[in-house]
Amino acid sequence: MRILVVQLTRLGDQELEAVSRTLGECLGSEVVVLPEPHPPPMVFYDWGRMQYRSDRILEWLTRLSHFEGLVLALGDIDTYVPGLNFVFGQADPSSGVAAVYVKRLKTGARSVDTYLERLAKEALHEIGHLLGLGHCKNKSCVMSFSNHVGEVDAKNPLFCDRCVAHLEASGVKTRCVLP
Ligand SMILES: [Zn+2]
Ligand SMILES: [Zn+2]
Repeated sequence: MRILVVQLTRLGDQELEAVSRTLGECLGSEVVVLPEPHPPPMVFYDWGRMQYRSDRILEWLTRLSHFEGLVLALGDIDTYVPGLNFVFGQADPSSGVAAVYVKRLKTGARSVDTYLERLAKEALHEIGHLLGLGHCKNKSCVMSFSNHVGEVDAKNPLFCDRCVAHLEASGVKTRCVLP
């Protein structure tokens, strides 16, 4: 499958590589990175909360994109959806558009590698949603829901047997499987 990476803010080569490599290795995806950043319109910014509305960003990307494949937006911004204090990412399977927001993934990261691992996991998690997966109860599985970075660190960039079975049922093969 093809995945278009859209930068909401300009990201570093290491970040783009970590995402591209993980999606390529785990799902055999062909990842295309749009070189020019696409900053989200400020009307999606809540000045009181100092956060963007993630759901609005996804709607905007859906209208913007005519890409035949999945779209993954990445941005160094803080976002929320009504009902949640913040989100690390969000996915809309009906439109094939997802986003990962890295600002909070940097929190307390002891090394660049820790941060890049978190980013890769959350990218794989959101693409997992686009491929029809829900949240998984297995805390080691990449599809488990993370409330804070500690939970991101506790999971692996790998799918559990149940999630693998779901993926295979929809015709997606993965090489990233929990032992
Ligand atoms: Zn999720
Ligand atoms: Zn799972």
